Amino acid sequence: MIQEKVLEFKKLEDEIKSCKKCELWKTKRNYVIGEGDYDTKLMFIGEAPGREEDLQGRPFVGSAGKLLTELIEKVIGLKREKVYIANVLKCRPPNNRDPNPDEIKACTPYLIKQIELIEPSFIVCLGRHSARFIFELFGLKFPSLTRVKGKIFKVITSHGKSIHVMATYHPAAVLYRPLLKDEYVKDFEKIAEYVKEKKKEKTLLDFT
Ligand code: URA
Ligand code: SF4
Repeated sequence: MIQEKVLEFKKLEDEIKSCKKCELWKTKRNYVIGEGDYDTKLMFIGEAPGREEDLQGRPFVGSAGKLLTELIEKVIGLKREKVYIANVLKCRPPNNRDPNPDEIKACTPYLIKQIELIEPSFIVCLGRHSARFIFELFGLKFPSLTRVKGKIFKVITSHGKSIHVMATYHPAAVLYRPLLKDEYVKDFEKIAEYVKEKKKEKTLLDFT
């Protein structure tokens, strides 16, 4: 990994750890910055930390996280540590309420910086809030989650890189409605297919 990237990440993480740009810092216990491999090509973006994440300062470590981790490892076949997992908001909204537009506006420059540093070639948006933000960021229309769910869109970033973007359900939604599970697994199979193709191409894209 390029040393410069590690330093930039350290700087960003320090900045987030003292952030007071919205009111959520007052009620959070820990900032949940994100975690994983800085050199990965596959990034997952959730909504905001929940109770367990807030306690541990790590993304997706509660029951929704357990499902997400299981799908990453069993369906995609990658260790969780080999992808990068982040959220739209870095602090937990009280009682897990939806993020409000001011909080999203205040916090997302951090997420944008994470995407710039990681340079993923595939971004998976987990749930409506993440999907709406990412789709709009890349100039994609976002009529509703149902309309775009499971489809892979290709976008070109302002830095000229191509990124594939897919939105799917938030794992918590699938826990709440188990009937969605089959469909959810199918979406992860599509991601697995993409990863397999990229491995076959033997390009510089290292998914292992
Ligand atoms: N839900 C999210 O959106 N993110 C987490 O990190 C945990 C639960
Ligand atoms: Fe800062 Fe984001 Fe936490 Fe708000 S949610 S205080 S913007 S880190």
